[in-house]
Amino acid sequence: MGVVVQKFGGSSVKNAERVMEAARKAIRAKHAGNMVIVVVSAQGSTTDDLIAKAAEISAAPSAREMDMLLATGEQISIALTAMAIQELGERAVSFTGQQIGIVTDSTHRKARIKKIDTQRLTEALESGHIVVIAGFQGIDEQGDISTLGRGGSDTTAVAVAAAVKLAGYDVQCEIFTDVDGVYTTDPRIVPDARKMDAISYDEMLEMASMGAGVMHSRSIEFAKKFDVPLMVRNAQSDALGTWIVPEEAWMGEIPACGVALAADEARLVLEGVPDRPGVSHQVFSALAAANIAVDMIAQSVGEGGKATIGFTVLNSELEKTKKTLAPLVAGLGAVLNETGKVSKVSVVGAGMRTIAGVAERLFQALAADGVNLKMITTGDIKISVLVEEDAPPPVEEATGGESIKKAHLESKKAVRGRKALRAVHAAFALAQPRKGAGAPAASAEFKPRANPLVVADPKDRDAAIARLDGMEDVLVSGVHLNTEQSRVTIHDLPDVPGNCSKVFNAVATGGILVDMIVQNQTGPAKAELSFTVPRADLPRALARTQDVLRAIDPACRAVGDADIAVLFVLGVGMRTHTGVARTMFGALAAHGINISMINTSEVCVGVVVERARGDEALACLTEAFNLG
Ligand code: ASP
Ligand code: MG
Repeated sequence: MGVVVQKFGGSSVKNAERVMEAARKAIRAKHAGNMVIVVVSAQGSTTDDLIAKAAEISAAPSAREMDMLLATGEQISIALTAMAIQELGERAVSFTGQQIGIVTDSTHRKARIKKIDTQRLTEALESGHIVVIAGFQGIDEQGDISTLGRGGSDTTAVAVAAAVKLAGYDVQCEIFTDVDGVYTTDPRIVPDARKMDAISYDEMLEMASMGAGVMHSRSIEFAKKFDVPLMVRNAQSDALGTWIVPEEAWMGEIPACGVALAADEARLVLEGVPDRPGVSHQVFSALAAANIAVDMIAQSVGEGGKATIGFTVLNSELEKTKKTLAPLVAGLGAVLNETGKVSKVSVVGAGMRTIAGVAERLFQALAADGVNLKMITTGDIKISVLVEEDAPPPVEEATGGESIKKAHLESKKAVRGRKALRAVHAAFALAQPRKGAGAPAASAEFKPRANPLVVADPKDRDAAIARLDGMEDVLVSGVHLNTEQSRVTIHDLPDVPGNCSKVFNAVATGGILVDMIVQNQTGPAKAELSFTVPRADLPRALARTQDVLRAIDPACRAVGDADIAVLFVLGVGMRTHTGVARTMFGALAAHGINISMINTSEVCVGVVVERARGDEALACLTEAFNLG
């Protein structure tokens, strides 16, 4: 008998009828021969309503008391769901996070799970109960209630699944929600978006972190780290949803599986930073120490001993970021410019590792739409661009209830980002059926589960639990050195729509595979654009670039650099664990290795250093991440 973890989001338990429907699904899974765990969120808009109640009392309520308040939402849901199951004639028992032993750190409202005790849980399962667990909550080591951050019930579900798996059971996790699965993009913005049948963990991580919004990205990190197969599916139907699984060969044939939009970000640019070892480390360790999650980082090559570092943070953390960096910026003799609201549009696909011309197609679509790009970064399987947004209009413009006002605001948000998203979705023909999205792909089928390997010996059980300790610690899976790449850098590229497209068109028509791309705005109306290509292609890439630049503006220059080494740290949680960049830059700084370019994504941080120091950099990063 295997274990099925079923998670029901707020909309899927919003009233009695939905609770009964969730209970029926759980019972059906049990009757199909599984042990069943149900994880539920607070009903409907309960969490929002509780936040509003707190706001009536205090503008800045203490985080501890907020957690005390917010955790009540899920407690209502578990009791009702257990009652519903009992009403339908099955045995059920509900548990709060505390009762089930979900231990977290003490960062209230953004707590991270440290371990889950599976004893009570497995006893209840083994005795034939459907176990109903409150999502989103845990308890810290002082015994205080904590919550995991908005949308955290997904994380609870996958973490519980991982814990049960480590206790020796065969597990799969179903995330029931109000959508049919994961789409090629947000179907509310792009109506012809297509449902995917399967997507890899890494693709999903890159999509989710960028606002695909279907799942909490930490839950996908867990699923990847502990190899838990996930399915996102609709709570209102029995149709299969989207499997989220390890990467399969056919996925590599698809240049782009989806595009995502993330609004609510702000861009900051640190200009005039001394180009010497350790500076990026100072900047990002200060942010990590303040627990500010940095999303995109783009450090350009720079000129005259000065570099520019562009990065984005959530709008809500903008003020804190400025305050945190102020003393440091002054000390470095640099300036920190805030450049306003931006939206991030990203293309994701495992195939872009090997298929040439993906960047070209993206930039072409954006140029045709007149979109100006404020920053570009690339990951292993992702290209992201920042699009500038106008500030949203004040809420007062809308009349009606809170939800109408909210909907109004939403519709005015990220206007340019939405437009860009539509253009890119069309450019990659993502509405067409393809393998893994409407057409058959050999894959992602789950064999019947094996019998559970129930761990009977208490010693084994303790060993399994020990492995859960610090379960949310970053998992850096590898460090890679690539000395086969060279770099082209364009200085003083006029910052107008279409220039990137022209450059990458010239490179792509030469059949040259572009790997890393970093673009930053470096001065008024000027951008610096760098990209790497295989070393053998450098002369051709440079010549082609210089040709286009002559037509764009004779004042801009392209230079080639063959003496570079690219290092990547790959893993999960690059963004949510603010410490990865800190460890990486810190280790390089300690060895006096200068970083001449930085590029980040959710599953990958890439840096460029001098070629002669590549091996040394690899060795020091291998050591820093204990991979030796
Ligand atoms: N109830 C919490 C929230 O609304 C957690 C969740 O729904 O996953 O954010
Ligand atoms: Mg919710």
